[in-house]
Amino acid sequence: MSNVKTYQNYINGAFVDSARGELRDNYNPATGALLSRAPESGAEDVQRAVEAARAAQKEWAKKPAIERAGYLHTLADRIRGEVDHLAAIIVAEQGKVRALAETEVNFTADYLDYMAEWARRIEGEIIESDRPNENIFLFRKPLGVIAGILPWNFPFFLIARKMAPALVTGNTIVIKPSEETPDNCFEFTKLLDGIDLPKGVFNVISGGGKTTGSALSGHRDVDMISFTGSVATGSAIMHNAADHITKVNLELGGKAPAIVLDDADLDLAVRAIKDSRVINNGQVCNCAERVYVQRGVAEAFQQKMAEAMQATTYGDPGADASVDMGPLINQAGLDKVAAMVDSARQAGADVLTGGRVADVSQGYHYEPTVLGNCTADMAVMKDEIFGPVLPIQIVEDLDEAIALANDSDYGLTSSIYTRSLTQAMKAVRELEYGETYVNRENFEAMQGFHAGTGKSGIGGADGKHGLYEYTRTHVAYIET
Ligand code: NAD
Repeated sequence: MSNVKTYQNYINGAFVDSARGELRDNYNPATGALLSRAPESGAEDVQRAVEAARAAQKEWAKKPAIERAGYLHTLADRIRGEVDHLAAIIVAEQGKVRALAETEVNFTADYLDYMAEWARRIEGEIIESDRPNENIFLFRKPLGVIAGILPWNFPFFLIARKMAPALVTGNTIVIKPSEETPDNCFEFTKLLDGIDLPKGVFNVISGGGKTTGSALSGHRDVDMISFTGSVATGSAIMHNAADHITKVNLELGGKAPAIVLDDADLDLAVRAIKDSRVINNGQVCNCAERVYVQRGVAEAFQQKMAEAMQATTYGDPGADASVDMGPLINQAGLDKVAAMVDSARQAGADVLTGGRVADVSQGYHYEPTVLGNCTADMAVMKDEIFGPVLPIQIVEDLDEAIALANDSDYGLTSSIYTRSLTQAMKAVRELEYGETYVNRENFEAMQGFHAGTGKSGIGGADGKHGLYEYTRTHVAYIET
């Protein structure tokens, strides 16, 4: 009997076939095995999902926030009961290693609980008036219907990052998972289907970007598009949104600089930056993508980093749970990484370790790679690589490092390794980034605010500020 699953969209509280009847195949990136078929939804499906979300929204918003939060807590408990199953799905369709897949599932449950806990803390304001006998009240109200469009790299967690703040503040949502990773989204939805959430509050339609995604982001009755993905798609979505003046919240790509100064704890810097390049097979928007190392420690740093990357193991994480790294998501991802390394090599970069497509029979594996002697004009120092490749450029001092770091289209995360508080604070002041990590790996906390400047995005996620992205303000001037 075939293990290949066939999924249906989830609209108005029921699993339903796509109106077009078309299905898209979904494969395991490590083995090439066919995993599932999921709907390739069209404009009709988008219409039905948005209509269902709109019809449900007013009643949903009337419920006390604490009642809405109760559903999120129940879902979190159900997710915690299914970690094994859910982690296996993520490993199979995205190629994440098992331990990280389990972390993603548990973090998702914690995130649902965290956002649910805001239910009693959604606050308006009372503002002093210029007139006697008047009060100015500022209310926080839901936006209405949210479209959540997701990438494939944290496919399970990112559902919660959008639906939890949306639902607790009284919005309803239509989610479109990446065409690379529909399975985990529909498994999430199966768990959600059992918690008696009112019909239409949460909907899922799967399909490709240019078909389903484009129809959803261009729909006139969506109040905010909450998108995570590449800069190019973010730009296409903004164009679509412009037709109906739809609000956008965009979490886009990054090219995170890591600065390593002469006085850094070198072993700490090597460990944290290496982990940053290896985690999720090098495919994380906020992880260190380029290093500026001060000349005094450059040789030692490069040598230690090359050794650490060389010791990184890779393979099919579904067959061997002990590997450090799985495959890249698809052939296009692998080709892009290979082309960027080849171009850097031709321009004079030294390949300190790796530098080739891995010699394995199956899967989109690239060797863990360190490139020394890089210069600012190389694509590996400018563009998002999204693979296990670390380019390094030598600098004379912090000023040069900051200038190079800031000379970028991106502005998501940055990091610095130094024992000097003065140097660290100078970097925090001068780096034009949404986040700076000092002497630690780049990984955001749910109570922080994950947001980029420049082409890395608009708006943000997490914490109080992320929650309020899903609300609008309504001011009442009340004279009595
Ligand atoms: P992508 O932009 O190719 O696709 C993301 C989603 O957009 C998919 O669901 C896709 O189907 C959809 N899409 C594509 N074209 C569309 C269109 N014209 N209209 C509407 N939707 C469309 O990104 P990806 O390859 O899935 O993800 C990798 C990218 O995501 C990287 O650039 C990474 O840095 C970024 N990312 C950013 C963050 C963050 O928090 N800033 C987090 C994770 C990933």
